[in-house]
Amino acid sequence: MSFRLANRAGQAVLLEGDDYWALDTDPMDALTRPQELHDRWARRGAADGQVSLAELGPPVPVPMQVFGYGLNYMDHIEEIDRVDAMGRTVSEAPVVFTKFPTCLVGPGAPVQLVGGHCDYECELVVVIGPETSNVDESQAWERVVGLMIGQDISDRALQTAATPPQFNLGKSRTSFGPTGPALVSPDLVENPDDLAISCQVNGEVRQNSRTSYLMRPVAEMVAYLSNILTLHPGDLIFTGTPGGVGHAQGLYLKPGDVIRSEIEGLGAMENPCV
Ligand code: ZN
Repeated sequence: MSFRLANRAGQAVLLEGDDYWALDTDPMDALTRPQELHDRWARRGAADGQVSLAELGPPVPVPMQVFGYGLNYMDHIEEIDRVDAMGRTVSEAPVVFTKFPTCLVGPGAPVQLVGGHCDYECELVVVIGPETSNVDESQAWERVVGLMIGQDISDRALQTAATPPQFNLGKSRTSFGPTGPALVSPDLVENPDDLAISCQVNGEVRQNSRTSYLMRPVAEMVAYLSNILTLHPGDLIFTGTPGGVGHAQGLYLKPGDVIRSEIEGLGAMENPCV
């Protein structure tokens, strides 16, 4: 199945570069019908028009559940430990938190900063296709309808305000979940387990890694969650961020900054900070 599904003003569209092809449904419905998307993609012909990043909404606007894996790249664990010296090691059980779906915005949407400790986290986001429970790792990729870029924007102060720390609200402020530009079927990337991932702030490279460094790969993350709860069509899994976050360097986001997030084969997002 091959397609790039996006959200133009609430309407499902196929997207290639700036060109779009309108579909007669909304994105939540469209993602449950990959075969139709594939067929339409194969015979798409002349585009219906062009669309800018800022005009695109989140490819999956209202998922039932949004999960975030924390501390899933070794260089990120090490940099965070240098800052707060808690002797972090690789947790035996996965570190999983919630991003509430209301934080989701499009690939060019402004990020509304609050306070002085907001931070970027470029991540591969996995989108669940069919309802999924109790799968093992060998079955997990079959349940993934697509991949996209995500920014797990984080208010570090709010994240650590409580004892013990509770990540959920600090990662769910309004506009703290840019995603896009499109939901890309996994077959359109060469190796979905090894994609270059990078993040720039104002043109300066801050993160630069590959998803093959994920300590818990995509199949393991999907299988783990599916054995605890039921995953629903359109559920999102933010898979964790590589080293280079601002928190580790004292470089927090400020108004006027532009965050550029890129993943090989999935395109790029550009989110201005306000
Ligand atoms: Zn994250």
